[in-house]
Amino acid sequence: MRASRAGVVVLSCSDPRLNPYQILGIDETLKATMVRNAGGRAFDAIRTLSVLQTIGAPGTIVVMHHTDCGMTHFHDADIKKALVEIAPQEKTSIEASKFGEIKNSIREDIELLKASPLIKDDTQIIGLAYDTATGALTEVEEAKSAL
Ligand SMILES: [Zn+2]
Repeated sequence: MRASRAGVVVLSCSDPRLNPYQILGIDETLKATMVRNAGGRAFDAIRTLSVLQTIGAPGTIVVMHHTDCGMTHFHDADIKKALVEIAPQEKTSIEASKFGEIKNSIREDIELLKASPLIKDDTQIIGLAYDTATGALTEVEEAKSAL
């Protein structure tokens, strides 16, 4: 990882199989802040990421998504359907919401963060794809990504 500036925020999936500290080789000498949500999606994390920019100096945001993610198996429509069953009174707001899928999602999230007025222009955004089967970690450019 070529994160050079102090202050790294890692955005990754909540999946318990993922240990971002171990995967990225982060120990206590590197100040890394962890943000996790379903899929590790930026649109869900933008509030937290923008707040962190006001109280710290995260020069780098790492977006790490992974293979075999639950979000690759349950698509947006499935999640909406399940949530409407849980809370039918919230049907309108559930159907108007985006819950996200993991398909070209790293590229999408890099673009979202770079375009966001809430994220400083000089913030380095790094996209990483983690293969849960092999343990391989691949840097993803904006232009090409399977995840
Ligand atoms: Zn996941």
